[in-house]
Amino acid sequence: MMEKIDHIGIAVRDIEAAMQFYRDCLGLSVSGVEEVAEQKVKVAFFPVGESKVELLQSTDPEGPVAKFIESRGEGVQHISFRVKNIEEKLADLKAKGVRLIDEKPRYGAGGARIAFLHPKSTGGVLVEICER
Ligand code: ZN
Repeated sequence: MMEKIDHIGIAVRDIEAAMQFYRDCLGLSVSGVEEVAEQKVKVAFFPVGESKVELLQSTDPEGPVAKFIESRGEGVQHISFRVKNIEEKLADLKAKGVRLIDEKPRYGAGGARIAFLHPKSTGGVLVEICER
């Protein structure tokens, strides 16, 4: 089952500039900035209560976040749901006919295991499931 919204992923062109808004205007504190080579992004997490905002800046013009910004502009890119057992959840979703981008979990920021579901199966939202 879904435990909570783990984080909301926001695609930005300039992570330093975007961080200013979350830090200086919203008053949030960054919990970490790291580069996730596999996804060609640099990310910054801002915890908000039980959840987080994840800012994503592409490190490669061919990366998924760069392509997202190219076609849709900056903004909310994905919503991530926390699950207890990601393999079980993927098998369950597949059995229900949901199109998966990742058949198997891979590693995301903070060592989380993540997988994306195809927006064609979710009403246009890029959904991530993650296990920590
Ligand atoms: Zn994410």
